[in-house]
Amino acid sequence: MSKISKTQAILTAKCPNCREGNLFEGSKMSFKNLTAINHSCPVCNANLMPEPGFYDGALYISYAFSVALVITVLVALNVLFKRPELWMYLTTIFVGNVLLLPLMLRYSKVLYLYLVSKLKYRGY
Ligand SMILES: [Zn+2]
Repeated sequence: MSKISKTQAILTAKCPNCREGNLFEGSKMSFKNLTAINHSCPVCNANLMPEPGFYDGALYISYAFSVALVITVLVALNVLFKRPELWMYLTTIFVGNVLLLPLMLRYSKVLYLYLVSKLKYRGY
């Protein structure tokens, strides 16, 4: 029986049903299989791919992450510098997006699965 909380399960990308099986096939460092999700949970065999194209909706969450990054950069640069130049905004946003893209893509899928799918914690 898994004893981790829902928040821990989301942060560690675990199955919503058992909170033990990994959602992703590859590691975070594997760029090839970065966002490839297992079709079923390796521990409880729950269906993690409810229908074809299920994770297309995760794009909206990924977009929200990008908007949050832009707003954070705008506020941070305005607090840190008196009159930041346009190139500073653009460079910081571009670098931030490139660095955080793997995390944003992964966690958008994890959040989408937790928010939209009918899988609920059963705590075997
Ligand atoms: Zn599971």
